[in-house]
Amino acid sequence: MRPRIMTVYGTRPEAIKVAPVIKALEASEHLDSITVVTGQHREMLDQVNTIFGITPDHDLDIFEHGASLSTIVARVLERLDPVLVAEQPAAVVVQGDTSTSTAAALAAFHRGIPVVHVEAGLRSGNILSPFPEEANRKITSQLAALHLAPTATSRANLERESVADDDIVVTGNTVIDALLMTVEKKAPFSDPALEHLADSGSRILLVTTHRRENWGGAMEGVGRALARLASALPSVQVVLPAHRNPVVREAVLPHLEGLDNVTVTEPLAYGEFTRMLSLATVVLTDSGGVQEEAPSLGKPVLVMRENTERPEAVGAGTVKLIGTDEDRIVDEVMALFTDQGAYEAMAQATNPYGDGSSAARSVEAIHHVLNGGPRPADWQVGATR
Ligand code: UDP
Repeated sequence: MRPRIMTVYGTRPEAIKVAPVIKALEASEHLDSITVVTGQHREMLDQVNTIFGITPDHDLDIFEHGASLSTIVARVLERLDPVLVAEQPAAVVVQGDTSTSTAAALAAFHRGIPVVHVEAGLRSGNILSPFPEEANRKITSQLAALHLAPTATSRANLERESVADDDIVVTGNTVIDALLMTVEKKAPFSDPALEHLADSGSRILLVTTHRRENWGGAMEGVGRALARLASALPSVQVVLPAHRNPVVREAVLPHLEGLDNVTVTEPLAYGEFTRMLSLATVVLTDSGGVQEEAPSLGKPVLVMRENTERPEAVGAGTVKLIGTDEDRIVDEVMALFTDQGAYEAMAQATNPYGDGSSAARSVEAIHHVLNGGPRPADWQVGATR
């Protein structure tokens, strides 16, 4: 019998990043795939599963509006345990740094099931930022048996924390697999306003914001900065797919009412989002995944955070950390729209995060550990297969 690999995930970014791994597991001759969603996010998670054609085998259905982090973790622990006992997987795959992934890793660890950590070794160096993700990812590193690091930098972070060299494989980031599987399909926009905007050929400022440590005053400042930018750059269209979290909406959206060149939408389905990313002139975000995707499409990214666990694209020059100060956001965005030289310096396609084969490498690494298959070579920037 082939070892069964259980992938557990619960939020939109995890769903996007595990989808290529699940697809590769499903196609594997050596391993079987079983999937569990926790439902930490609800609609945004289901949207991604639909796009990739994934029907979860189990749904822990933990979602509740305004649930605390502790409630999320407690529910995942409680509801995943009987599924682990019933299904007896040979390994559990978790992704990244959400409360779902750390709780799932702990539940598997409690049952003596090896944990495979996809996107292992990211570190901002500040336990409070991003919160709670930096702590989550460190805890998962303590529990994991196999660490699938996206880059050489993340491998080095793990080695510094005494993770054994042999237990790490550099795979690249599976988000690039997901992006490449999706972007070329040029999904139609379900909102006619976006289709119209795409046809107009206008320059686009694409904005996403949701980070918990920016909730409150900082996010209000983001809303005010966007309103100022929309007025100062009337020929630019600002597109904001608003995160479902009401805390985010209440802070940002009131500032944007009545502005003709601002389009606020529901979260875009992944296919639509990647198309909007390919149409965007500049990307302003506090998202982790968007910081990884946009450089692959040659889009300058301004990151509204003080630090990042993704230094590679900052080093390559396509990503700039600008913090959340309102005036700074306005100045940095204005510079990219008004100074051609500044724009061109940042707008170079670079792939520091992957070549689209990260899921295949991840599955090979699992096959290596469980079945003694060949160990994949570490991925290096510029290498393709
Ligand atoms: N994304 C999406 N629709 C949107 C906004 C973002 O599909 O309206 C995707 C985006 O392409 C990226 C992921 O969601 O892959 C990022 O999710 P998020 O910013 O919520 O989380 P983070 O990456 O910061 O953990």
